[in-house]
Amino acid sequence: MLDDHIQYLKGVGPHKAKILSRLGIVTVRELLNYFPREYDDRRTFTRIAQLCAGSRATISGKVEAADSLVLNRSLSLFKVAVSDGSGIAFGLFYRKMNPYHRHDVFGSLKKIFIPGNRVILNGTVEINFGEKQIKTDDYESCETQGNSLPFPFGRIVPVYPLTEGVRQKWLRELMKAALEKYSDEWPDPVPGGAAGRSRFKAAAEALRHIHFPPDFSAAQEARNRLAFDEFLLLETALSLARRKIKVRSKPRRYEIKKDLLTPFREHLNFEFTPAQKKVIKEIFTDLQTTEPMNRLLMGDVGSGKTVVAVSSMLLAIENGFQAALLAPTEILAEQHYLTLQKLLSGLPVRTGLLTGRLSAKRKEKKKLLEEAAAGGIDLLVGTHALLEKNIVFRNLALIVIDEQHRFGVLQRAALREKGEHADVLIMTATPIPRTLALTLYGDTDVSVIDRLPPGRKPVQTLHLDEPAAYELVKREVRSGHQAYIVYPLVEESDKVELKAAVREAEHLSASVFNGFRVGLLHGQMGAEEKEKVMLEFRAGGYDILISTTVIEVGIDVPNATAMVIEHADRFGLATLHQLRGRIGRGPAASSCVLCGSPKTDDARKRIDVMLSTTDGFVIAEEDLTLRGPGEFFGTAQHGMPVLKAGNLVTDTALIEEAKERSRGIVEKDPALSAPGNASLRAELLRAFRGRFGLFKIG
Ligand code: ADP
Ligand code: MG
Repeated sequence: MLDDHIQYLKGVGPHKAKILSRLGIVTVRELLNYFPREYDDRRTFTRIAQLCAGSRATISGKVEAADSLVLNRSLSLFKVAVSDGSGIAFGLFYRKMNPYHRHDVFGSLKKIFIPGNRVILNGTVEINFGEKQIKTDDYESCETQGNSLPFPFGRIVPVYPLTEGVRQKWLRELMKAALEKYSDEWPDPVPGGAAGRSRFKAAAEALRHIHFPPDFSAAQEARNRLAFDEFLLLETALSLARRKIKVRSKPRRYEIKKDLLTPFREHLNFEFTPAQKKVIKEIFTDLQTTEPMNRLLMGDVGSGKTVVAVSSMLLAIENGFQAALLAPTEILAEQHYLTLQKLLSGLPVRTGLLTGRLSAKRKEKKKLLEEAAAGGIDLLVGTHALLEKNIVFRNLALIVIDEQHRFGVLQRAALREKGEHADVLIMTATPIPRTLALTLYGDTDVSVIDRLPPGRKPVQTLHLDEPAAYELVKREVRSGHQAYIVYPLVEESDKVELKAAVREAEHLSASVFNGFRVGLLHGQMGAEEKEKVMLEFRAGGYDILISTTVIEVGIDVPNATAMVIEHADRFGLATLHQLRGRIGRGPAASSCVLCGSPKTDDARKRIDVMLSTTDGFVIAEEDLTLRGPGEFFGTAQHGMPVLKAGNLVTDTALIEEAKERSRGIVEKDPALSAPGNASLRAELLRAFRGRFGLFKIG
């Protein structure tokens, strides 16, 4: 069986099994799912006369002579001369030696490379002292094989990622044996199998071909087929999840009463943009239907998502329900809370803030929890802490998540359970690349705010040294504007880093910015102190605000027209984009200066991307490519099965196809009870085993 432990395979004892487990291989299924990193084309032999330096080659010939020599105390060389009629080449084998061991490290080589025997050598060609040498990777004797070529030659062979204690040759042979014995059991989740998708081979055949392809196009096709299977499982799970949400009907009705909505709108000193009106309409339509809403609100930094979210929450509240707003970090939760208090001042809406800090103040927290349970609070702001079991709402109807990629499908599912089929709105500032929107958010509807509020000027971005950056800041301040200087703190809780930033800030305000009014803001300050500094800056009390990344979100000072990001090479693209979004919010032109010299290619690339575009979509795509989907989203945290063949960055077409296909399947047979869907159903249950409540079949 595929789920057999690999120790059942010949040649795998407890020791090897332990080493393989480091590669994530414990069962036969995991072994077969361990795909090659690349291939080595050994279909043809190269004539020795044609060998050229630097290339990889395979030769076949007769052993002329063999000899070993000690190079130094720990290294020996075995050298064998092979001729094929066109010339002579020397195969080189280096072996580490232990001088205290009498064991002959070349024992097995000497048995094969006997003068007169026919052999095959494979490796990288070098030309030294006029000799053609092969640094040997693989070799085989042809004496015992009869007419056929020994297994790892005369074909394309897989090259696997390895770990210490596992040799390529050994793993290759293990794979071959496992494929022979088990590949026919490989499940084919596509209903109707290959018949349904003539372009693809059967899954078992694809599995054999991804390891040992007859040619390179077969390898590609096999990969596509297996990737399609992975995406089909994922998309089917998501279709089912979406359906599970939709088939329930929520036990409430909304009416647009405008008791709160109208005064809220009248309080604002601006009109909603057409883009905002459009998405508000989409959200209100969702809220008024009988199915729970599950909507993603995408809009670039500064596009005005907050007032959209507030409008939605007010609709729930004016109908007598509770709403919750979740932020990914405590600081962001606090900032949201401040923003809300400002936006809702004068309205009869009772808001509360629940953070970890509050847990320290037992009594306050207890009171807040009691109020949430009794309905004394209309709108609760917090972090994931709001997900905890001990938090009870009286009638939570709408949950808004300011997500920033940190909540996963599973967490969203858990959240929904908090309210009675609560409506969920997810806001994301960094646009989601298309492939991810199709997968990780495949269970949601999408609204996009595609236009910024009027009067915004694109921010000019520069890469300068610090003296030039500080000059620019002074110029802006002298013309009546304000500026940010941002220091990177990977963790706001890192005391050592923080100290350095604070010292730097003090130094700057005493030297370069002597005579200017400089404020300091960081995450370790108390909420009140932070608020005071922010309000002071907003009111124009400081010319320059030196800050850590706490200003990433939330601060809104249209008069701030310059930002210097120190050590910009250390920030990720998403953070840089968020930070830059803090300026360019008023009528005057703004500049963002990136300081710091990038030390890696990735860091250089990040700076280049920031200099070349302000388009959040382009930045998100680049971010995904640079970091890979795992890190971009923290796949493990999201409870998604790991993709082995599929690639979330590049497989857009396959994902779309899988999504189409899964939608058709789920529409016709939502319980997946038709005999043709049995294999899909079984695979789905296996892949998502233990993932609570994500979807329901049968
Ligand atoms: P984000 O989408 O990044 O959360 P915000 O909601 O913080 O953006 O909005 C950015 C700024 O734009 C805020 O100062 C907000 O008051 C302002 N704003 C929002 N909508 C409009 C609008 N329709 N016209 C003018 N300014 C707006
Ligand atoms: Mg925002």
